[in-house]
Amino acid sequence: VRGANRLLMSCTTPVAEGMDIWTESAPAVRARRAALEMLLSNHYADCRGPCFLQCPANVDVQGYLAFANAGMYREALALIRETNPMPLACGRVCVRYCEASCRRNDVDSPAAINFMKRYVADLEYDNLPAPASVSKTGKKVAIVGGGPAGLTCGYFLATKGHAVTIFDQQPKLGGMLRYGIPEYRLPEAVLDKEINYLLAHGIESRTNLRLGRDVRLDDLKRQGFDAIYIALGSWIAKGMGIESETHPNILSGIAFLEGVKRNGPPTLHGTVAVVGGGNTAVDASRTALRCGAEKVVILYRRSESEMPADEVEVKDARDEGVDIRFLVAPKRAVVEGGRLVGLECFRMELGEPDASGRRRPVQVAGSEFLFACDWAISAIGQEPDLQGLENETLGRIAVTKWKNIQADPETFQTSVPGVFAGGDAMTGPQAAIDAIGGARKAAWVIDRYLTTGTVEKFQAGFFSKRTALAPLDASFFAEFEKTARETMPKLDGHERTHHWDEVDLGVTATQVRRETSRCLSCGCASVFDCDLKVLSGNYDARQEHYMGRIKKHKLDDRHPYILLDGNKCILCGRCVR
Ligand SMILES: Cc1cc2nc3c(=O)[nH]c(=O)nc-3n(C[C@H](O)[C@H](O)[C@H](O)COP(=O)(O)OP(=O)(O)OC[C@H]3O[C@@H](n4cnc5c(N)ncnc54)[C@H](O)[C@@H]3O)c2cc1C
Ligand code: SF4
Ligand code: SF4
Ligand code: SF4
Repeated sequence: VRGANRLLMSCTTPVAEGMDIWTESAPAVRARRAALEMLLSNHYADCRGPCFLQCPANVDVQGYLAFANAGMYREALALIRETNPMPLACGRVCVRYCEASCRRNDVDSPAAINFMKRYVADLEYDNLPAPASVSKTGKKVAIVGGGPAGLTCGYFLATKGHAVTIFDQQPKLGGMLRYGIPEYRLPEAVLDKEINYLLAHGIESRTNLRLGRDVRLDDLKRQGFDAIYIALGSWIAKGMGIESETHPNILSGIAFLEGVKRNGPPTLHGTVAVVGGGNTAVDASRTALRCGAEKVVILYRRSESEMPADEVEVKDARDEGVDIRFLVAPKRAVVEGGRLVGLECFRMELGEPDASGRRRPVQVAGSEFLFACDWAISAIGQEPDLQGLENETLGRIAVTKWKNIQADPETFQTSVPGVFAGGDAMTGPQAAIDAIGGARKAAWVIDRYLTTGTVEKFQAGFFSKRTALAPLDASFFAEFEKTARETMPKLDGHERTHHWDEVDLGVTATQVRRETSRCLSCGCASVFDCDLKVLSGNYDARQEHYMGRIKKHKLDDRHPYILLDGNKCILCGRCVR
């Protein structure tokens, strides 16, 4: 109340003539935040499971596993697509941050979340509803780069009624999902189906147009686009920096994989050395086998535990006969009479951790040896090709010292107002779901920008987390019965290297029922209508602010309909009244 010398409680203050009530004064806001933080400091509860929080697209994993468990596959797919519009692709290639963080890890092994995603997407994709018609806003958005970032951003903006055009240098959209990831992991027919459905939401696609060559940012501005989203990916292969690297039998990993997709598989022979330890190296090695190589060996300069490639991919490569040698790095290519004879290599040892947190590989003096090979494929990293950003009318688009596009991590706006960025071109090479998750947030920001003219940070909302207050006790996990994780049926390891058929065959309905029942349902059942959650977000409350001793309560489920969870008490007092 204006003029009062302290905050007054609305429930105990009688209304008086001429009273001037001010509900959002700074002291009132502070007091509410403090009250919320007091409640939260002993709110030993999870709004969402770690699977949701760790998935960059915040897919409602618990929800879709529950739908799948009930046989409601269509609903499961719809729920996934609310935040990840590429479940067919992700169901095959996602790096599964959710599974790495799944609570089931502490019982036995993580829920096979992504196998379930692929199952419902494969089964129900053809039954997705025709895109709903939305009223047009009259705003135009240009998206440069039609990989998962560009497609996702375009899709969410199109569903808001904006006119979206995607420009891409390649003949087909899909980015690295099409031109990097091989057919035996993500069949093009599957990717086409997904992309066609996204485009059907009213997105125009203009392919074979390279930014900087066929179209410039100045042209996009002249054509009246109200916002531009740049998602060019990371398409320049880093060189090994060794002598004779330009020999025709030494290929770059991404150019090799792109060539297979665009021109068909080349014929390789003899021994192929693949240098690197990431996804590109593993894909190049398995692809080399399918191109006729008799022997494929990956040379990686660190040890197995530092290898960035997905461990499932590494196992699949080994099952196909790929050999991996650790702590080896090339010194020079050895060419005799114009013929590649091999790579002279150093043996390495691990020193102190570097900027990436992994132990730095150090050459062992005098350890050089010849690794004989007929071909070498270099797959040691990529960076974006940012030539196309040059322009005369928009202003300089700043880049980071790692040569990525510099953009605000919460608004995705670059140094030029109205120009946004995302995906690998902004973050450096990551995974498809990072590109998708970021693009979804960028679409939210761009939509606000187009409709209100302001650039706001993406609002994730508040999430109560038990682990913010205290770790979970081992006794919590001991209560669950241990069960085996379902496995993905695959084509036979050696036979499959003779063709390009998809290796992972997909799980069965019985496996889905068993696997989905392994989910511990970590998130709160009230998450969709909880005032505490909404208010904590509105008032920017910090759960840890008044952290003290935590009381952990056991769930009381004696009543057939009422579950009493003392951890979520909000001191309303109804239980004792
Ligand atoms: C070999 C390989 C295997 C991978 N395996 C996996 C995996 O198993 N799981 C996973 O999650 N991730 C994987 N990734 C990473 C994943 O593919 C990328 O993180 C993801 O595709 C990035 O999406 P993006 O949209 O930012 O860029 P991209 O997918 O690279 O798309 C960028 C798009 O921009 C276009 N473009 C570029 N320059 C221009 C220009 N000047 N003008 C017009 N268009 C342009 C390109 O043609 C492309 O279509 C892999 C990557 C590679 C290279
Ligand atoms: S949804 Fe509400 S009650 Fe449930 S954990 Fe979150 S804040 Fe607590
Ligand atoms: S998209 Fe990937 S990280 Fe997200 S829930 Fe699915 S498998 Fe997990
Ligand atoms: S057990 Fe279920 S809800 Fe919990 S983290 Fe794993 S998938 Fe998510």
